[in-house]
Amino acid sequence: MNTDIIWSNILNQIKDELSSLSYNTWFAETELYQLKDGIAYIIVPMPIHKKHLIDNYRDIIVNKINDVVGENYDIHLLLKEEIEEELHTSTESVRDTSNEKDDNTDNNVNSNLNPSYTFNNFVVGNSNKFAHAGALSVAENPGTMYNPLFLYGNSGLGKTHLMHAIGNYIVANSNKKVLYVTSEQFKSEFVKANKKDENGENFNYVDFFKNKYRNIDVLLIDDIQFLGEAKKSQEEFFHTFNNLYNDSKQIIISSDRSPNDLRKLEDRLLTRFTWGLTVNIYPPDYNLRVEILKKKIIAGNFEKDIPQEVIEYIASNMGPDVRQLEGAITRLIAYSTIMGGLEINLDVAIDALKDEINKGIVEKDDVHRIQKIVSEYFQISVEDIRSKKRSSNISFPRQIAMYLCRTMTSESFPKIGTEFGGKDHSTVMHSVEKIENEIKVNKDLANIIEKLKKDIGVV
Ligand code: ADP
Ligand code: MG
Repeated sequence: MNTDIIWSNILNQIKDELSSLSYNTWFAETELYQLKDGIAYIIVPMPIHKKHLIDNYRDIIVNKINDVVGENYDIHLLLKEEIEEELHTSTESVRDTSNEKDDNTDNNVNSNLNPSYTFNNFVVGNSNKFAHAGALSVAENPGTMYNPLFLYGNSGLGKTHLMHAIGNYIVANSNKKVLYVTSEQFKSEFVKANKKDENGENFNYVDFFKNKYRNIDVLLIDDIQFLGEAKKSQEEFFHTFNNLYNDSKQIIISSDRSPNDLRKLEDRLLTRFTWGLTVNIYPPDYNLRVEILKKKIIAGNFEKDIPQEVIEYIASNMGPDVRQLEGAITRLIAYSTIMGGLEINLDVAIDALKDEINKGIVEKDDVHRIQKIVSEYFQISVEDIRSKKRSSNISFPRQIAMYLCRTMTSESFPKIGTEFGGKDHSTVMHSVEKIENEIKVNKDLANIIEKLKKDIGVV
């Protein structure tokens, strides 16, 4: 079968499983360039397709190729103009590994790095500059500066991006062997390695597993919280950690919470996690959201211009999860294309994003309800909380109420501002951030907020 026929078979199957909007946007203009050395090289029309296809459709593509061709291929997405360059480098890397094969058995271990996550395209602002600096120091001095590096923060704030950036940097600047895995992958490989076959233990697999994890120079393990209750995998990870650590190999760990809050992991692991550098990555503030959007727009290389006011609209109305910011741009571009190539302006953006932004839309009453509950709790009047008064016994509850409005409803900053004495959007944003940061260090405040949230209930 030639590649065109293979691909049209695959596309036909994919078409059946997706909405026509998704299919036409993401698959209609793709081509299979070649199947080589376990990799399917797929040509995509725009840079944005690479990430979107990998993030959302990787499994389906891999499975369909397997269905049609009968073999497993990993996928590599590239633009037409990249064929020359990419295939040149990929033959080089195949050559590299074959040279090394003689002296070690595990050289064919894939580093699992995503080349599109780099330091170059990571936008730095106040909320992530410490994490970024820690990551870069480790990338420049693996195994010597901070070991382990422990990165934590909420979902969508760039932890995985930074980990790949470290890995890519090290691979580009040294001969070190880097391995990126999620803790889920670690767990499932460990379970597989320990499955007993009919004759007892399957030793080949066990050896393979141990070699793979202990003969590397840099281990990146993502989302460690998922190691959770898997006691045996934790045990194995503990030994892996010790081996690597004792050999001054770099370990980089990410998690959605701090080592102190990783209750399900054993203490001996948690203590080790704090031996090196622990960095928290915070939600991006408004300015950083604007910068990230701009960077993604440049990287996306869209035909259409996205005006500043649209960028600001997205930045002030979407939550702090960067994935959602990216999703908003993707949706906006897809919408304007599907609507026959509309120019993008604020009206188009409002229309394209109304479902995202209005999710759990707030009624005016919800803001009032929050104002009432917070005022009662602090024993001030609703008029005061809605006023411009600046005394701290009023302004602090007001900040809390603004924070609750922002986190529990989908009201935008400007709209919240008008409900609280006509504040402008940056003042509201500042208050929300202030409370967000304060909660992290002030347990009493965190408890008050929890109580208020319970009182407010479902919005
Ligand atoms: P996490 O692992 O913390 O859940 P990811 O690293 O997967 O988050 O980030 C989600 C998306 O947001 C990725 O596409 C990533 O490239 C992007 N992203 C997050 N932070 C930044 C940033 N500061 N600059 C550029 N892109 C970012
Ligand atoms: Mg992640």
